[in-house]
Amino acid sequence: MQLSKRASTITPSSTLAITAKAKALKAEGHDVIGLGAGEPDFNTPQYIIEAAYQSMQDGLTKYTPSGGLPELKEAIRNKFETDQSLSYTNEEIMVGTGAKHVLYTLFQALLDEGDEVIIPTPYWVSYPEQVKLAGGVPVYLKGEEENDFKITPDALAEKITARTKAVIINSPSNPTGSMYERDELQAIGEVALKNDVVIVSDEIYEKLIYDGNTHVSIATLSAALKEQTVVINGVSKSHSMTGWRIGYAAGSKTLIQAMTSIASHSTSNPMTSAQYGAIAAYTKEDGSVEKMRQAFEERLNVAYEKLVAISGISCVKPKGAFYLFPNVQEAVKQTGFATTDDWVAALLEEEKVAVVPGSGFGAPNNIRLSYATSLELMTEALERIERFILRHS
Ligand code: PLP
Repeated sequence: MQLSKRASTITPSSTLAITAKAKALKAEGHDVIGLGAGEPDFNTPQYIIEAAYQSMQDGLTKYTPSGGLPELKEAIRNKFETDQSLSYTNEEIMVGTGAKHVLYTLFQALLDEGDEVIIPTPYWVSYPEQVKLAGGVPVYLKGEEENDFKITPDALAEKITARTKAVIINSPSNPTGSMYERDELQAIGEVALKNDVVIVSDEIYEKLIYDGNTHVSIATLSAALKEQTVVINGVSKSHSMTGWRIGYAAGSKTLIQAMTSIASHSTSNPMTSAQYGAIAAYTKEDGSVEKMRQAFEERLNVAYEKLVAISGISCVKPKGAFYLFPNVQEAVKQTGFATTDDWVAALLEEEKVAVVPGSGFGAPNNIRLSYATSLELMTEALERIERFILRHS
């Protein structure tokens, strides 16, 4: 069968691929430790499950408006007001089936054939593919490891052409855990404003921040920047609701309306009871979001110290999200492997530890380890990695 050109330019998600391989090995009876997952390992808080269950019992099991229930939009608006003093109307918010699909819809609404989107590297695996699926062209801009993997305003200005439509800012970042400071965002924002480049601010890890750092949304820095920015967020990571598929965008009415129209012909609406669960997530509180954050912070601190003590591995300490993104270039060399991808494959084969090679994130010298797993397993995995390096050195 002849596939479309569109389909043949797409690479499947490397994070999902490694998770699938680890699961297959586990099913064969191997003692695999998976550090590939991009999701919290906690169950969804009970009050959210109950709210969704109750909505079903109450017969709320039908279609909803395409861009999401008005009550959910209101809960999201209140969250923006409380957390960031940002005011949006219901027409400026679109709820979709996870932040991933909201981003997909955004690029469909924003890009024409050949439009460029500046994607800082390392990047979340789906950005380039989603841009390509919308006919756009990903333009990569390297965030140097010495600068916590962050881009600079000057480097951004240099990448901008007449075809540049948008730039993506993901803070805290997947895969690096880096976060932009207020003044850095201000300077990046000025470049975007000057060149009329839309800022896509993916803030999905906003609630998972450590070491007393605070999250700044670029949309809060001025009225002009709010106008220029589409904020992407969702409950997947903050409330451990990855399977519920609820994410949202906040931005200009014109763009949000276009996205809602596209959604009306693709997904119709995000699952109804999941929307009721999300309303509970944002309107009720039982302390679980903070409890999960604290658990992640403890794991990060323990795992980070153990990781950087391993020969051939260095790591910028993440400020948020739940990933470590160490540079393993020395370890790969030391152990005689040709590439990080080969090294990662051998690690899974020999030590049954699944990590994601950095090549999928545009950073071939690094690997991504998710600490969305128990401290005990994380410690065991790091010991296995150390043993693997020693054995091959
Ligand atoms: N953006 C980033 C940076 C992510 O890491 C993810 C999930 O891995 C998403 C968006 C998508 O989240 P959701 O589960 O809401 O689709």
